[in-house]
Amino acid sequence: MFGFFEKKKEFCCAICGSKNPQEGFRGAKGDICKQCADALEKRDLTCDDAFLFTEDQRKNLCNPALDAVELADSLQIEKAPLVLQEGEYCYYYGDACGGHIQTVTTGYTGRNKGVSVQIMKGVSYHTGGSAGQAIREQLIESSPTGRFVLTNKRFVLLTALYGFDIPGDKVQTIDVRPDGLGIYVKNKMHIVLTSDVRKIAIIITILTNATKQQQEERKQKSPETTKRRQTRKKQAPVSGADEIMKYKKLMDEGIITESQFERKKNEILGFTE
Ligand SMILES: [Zn+2]
Repeated sequence: MFGFFEKKKEFCCAICGSKNPQEGFRGAKGDICKQCADALEKRDLTCDDAFLFTEDQRKNLCNPALDAVELADSLQIEKAPLVLQEGEYCYYYGDACGGHIQTVTTGYTGRNKGVSVQIMKGVSYHTGGSAGQAIREQLIESSPTGRFVLTNKRFVLLTALYGFDIPGDKVQTIDVRPDGLGIYVKNKMHIVLTSDVRKIAIIITILTNATKQQQEERKQKSPETTKRRQTRKKQAPVSGADEIMKYKKLMDEGIITESQFERKKNEILGFTE
């Protein structure tokens, strides 16, 4: 009788909008069709991974036509919470804490008590007996919540008590843990505690692949790829006045006629003849 209320929501792919439920994935956060799921798998991503990203980013992750560099470009975030250098783009920012590893001696095993003689305040000299084996525990002390920012050039952590700004090319390795990342520089580990570990790890992989591709292309130095890259560069918005001056120059050089110039000018200014 109340079948109306029980009617299951129609399958609809959250990426391409396909309504074909065949072999599709119905996740808690949305549906993904077989075709999109396969595209994600080719990038070593699961359907759940797709929902870590925005709708537009999801579409790009499922677009097999995008190469590594194009995919990385498509994940750029316009507004970054830091001042970026030239050629630097932001790919991720979110809440995070910093962590310090502290080795704390919590006790001793087989300690044989000797005699402690206090020499002066705060300093004691231990004599006799053996200290035994120290039990040391590594504790991660977390800083207040701040922000972790990932760009194509740097890993930056900003918190009230602790932070870092590590150039990407100085990073030796990144240890991905369930609750954070360990970023190793000169064998020292910088800890970021975040709930976005998976997303950050995916972005780092995409950026790494893009860098590899660019290095390969630079090695080949193929003029064709250079040309392709140049055309891909975002075009600066051209103002109407600039555009008209461009055509005026063409007219002055005799490449186009005056009437062609007039027509173009009216077109740019939005005048209809
Ligand atoms: Zn789809």
